[in-house]
Amino acid sequence: MDFKYVQTTCPYCGTGCSFNLVVRDGKVVGTQPYDRSPVNEGKVCPKGTYAHEFVNSPDRLTKPLIKKDGKFVEATWDEAYDLIAQKFKSYKPDEFAALASARVSNEENYLMMKFARGVMKSRHIDHCARLCHSSTVAGLAASFGSGAMTNSILDIAESKCVFVIGSNTFEQHPLIGRKIVQAKKNGAKVIYADPRYTPTARQADLYMPFVSGSDVAILNGLMQEIIKNGWEDREFIEKRTKDFEKLKEVVMKETYSLENVSKISGIPVESLKTAAEWLGTNKPGAILYSMGITQHTVGVDNVRSVANIQMLLGNLGKPGAGVNALRGQNNVQGACDMGALPNVFTGYQKVIDEAAHKKFADAWGFPDGICEPKLGYEVTTMMNVLTDNPGELKCMYIMGENPMISDPDINHVREALESLDFLVVQDIFMTETGELADVILPAACYAERDGTQTSTERRVQRWRKAQNPPGEAKQDWQIICELAARMGYAEQFPFQSAEEIFEEIRRVTPSYAGMTYERLDRPEALHWPCPTVEHPGTPILHREKFSSPDGLGAFAPIEWKPPAEVPDEEYPFVFTTGRILWHWHTGTMTRRSATLDTEVPTGWIEINTEDAKALGIKNGEIVRAVTRRGSVEVPAKVTDDIMKGVMFMPFHFHECAANILTNNALDPVAKIPEFKACAVRVEKI
Ligand code: SF4
Repeated sequence: MDFKYVQTTCPYCGTGCSFNLVVRDGKVVGTQPYDRSPVNEGKVCPKGTYAHEFVNSPDRLTKPLIKKDGKFVEATWDEAYDLIAQKFKSYKPDEFAALASARVSNEENYLMMKFARGVMKSRHIDHCARLCHSSTVAGLAASFGSGAMTNSILDIAESKCVFVIGSNTFEQHPLIGRKIVQAKKNGAKVIYADPRYTPTARQADLYMPFVSGSDVAILNGLMQEIIKNGWEDREFIEKRTKDFEKLKEVVMKETYSLENVSKISGIPVESLKTAAEWLGTNKPGAILYSMGITQHTVGVDNVRSVANIQMLLGNLGKPGAGVNALRGQNNVQGACDMGALPNVFTGYQKVIDEAAHKKFADAWGFPDGICEPKLGYEVTTMMNVLTDNPGELKCMYIMGENPMISDPDINHVREALESLDFLVVQDIFMTETGELADVILPAACYAERDGTQTSTERRVQRWRKAQNPPGEAKQDWQIICELAARMGYAEQFPFQSAEEIFEEIRRVTPSYAGMTYERLDRPEALHWPCPTVEHPGTPILHREKFSSPDGLGAFAPIEWKPPAEVPDEEYPFVFTTGRILWHWHTGTMTRRSATLDTEVPTGWIEINTEDAKALGIKNGEIVRAVTRRGSVEVPAKVTDDIMKGVMFMPFHFHECAANILTNNALDPVAKIPEFKACAVRVEKI
């Protein structure tokens, strides 16, 4: 019997925990701790513990599939490539759109971006960061000049005050939660604001339940109280920022007195006072947020308000401080860094910048050029264009994403995808999106590929191949290279390994230029920017100056606005969605992990005890949740852990898909949907 351990990085959340895969006779059979990573110190959460269970699932895709007469039939790779190449060549550039993936490697995201812009000459490429942190990228770029988490995960333990808003850290990033515990042991105060009393609330010294959608009002109110008490960092404001007076004009308004903020948010005045005092008098302080902040029609406003309060307190550019945007999927940061977005090439080099456009056109060497230097469509815009402007987009290539579960208003997504002339889906399992495809390409999973990923803290880490993919499945980068070659671009896709692709990424991406596989294998903790091979990486951004052209942080005066859809007589409750500890996003992997799926086999809707009593609903009863977009039948979970007037569903479960209910209203800048607040009613069946 042959045994080996292969160290790799977890395929689920953006924390980037390391563990060993246990390989017996060439097959992955378990996980074991790897204790040399300071991020997780040998620990993992349940998802990481059982991350081997789906790898050899009998459901894995093993051969290409082509739909004939409405049914999928097995095909050879040659047949699949020939069909795809012939169809792809038949479209005009901007009739094609691609979705890259936060679940695949940096190298594979880079190649998908190069394929869309170079082979297809299309400007339309995006991925699921649109749905989780596009408002972070836009908001922090506007405030600081760089749209990423400012500090490292290790830093959090050094904080004297940790303010968590809109993140259920102990369920969604459990190993980051450990750093909060370490900060508490060192004497830090922990403040938590969320409509639900989650496991994170249990760790807090101050819990502030609030009505979803009131974030800006809360943050403005806290800033008013901080300024009134003189707790702001005057030296930091004067030397490092601009537009403080404009901020003051807004936050000092009577609208944001603690009494008014209490009315808007539902948080008691005394709690707001305590929070302001703790933030103002315990420094350095770290703010952690996730999709409770970002997934709103005011997502960018929310993010800029978080940036405002941290600049006000001088909590930037030092250990234990920072705006810590906790990215969702394992490689959502990397997919953004690799330019799988409609507005940038790698390293956030703008597509509309002529010099950047020429640089990539020259570096890639396509004899017939690349896409025009124009902005492309976001995934949310693609869906709207498909339904509202028939014929403009005709063809999509989706790698490792499942919009039929993850995107808002699934009935609308179905209508959009069904309107396509040709859809290719590349994935490890048949998904709800794959069922709508014309061709399915079977891909390798994380345990079957080499490559790199970039975790939420901008730390680049290795994935290592532990077993061969099942059947004829291939690594995504190999599929893209072979398809590009079939379309006549073998010269531009000559890669024989993930490392060769990484070397090209380094050449065109200044923030990754100093990283090599050799350095990453040592391992060194390389956070970007890492511009030279001698550079140690940058765990903390903005130490001396911000990344903006003038080096200053920009305060933004932000007024509170309510969500696009608020409760009324017909739909009297606020509806919000999120994730749970045991499952991951659209459930393609965790629901094929026997342990995880046995632990939590289906979804539910959380209803406050008093609301349930008024509606005559009992715990466990199947109810119908209805919004203006659709309805789902789902078990009720009657609990005091959710605020009166608010209802919550996890979005992992296709049989009671929360995103049938959610609203496709978009933030005007980031085009992120308002997953976190719409109006719902619940009916007895
Ligand atoms: Fe994986 Fe995240 Fe759990 Fe770590 S905290 S084991 S990265 S899911």
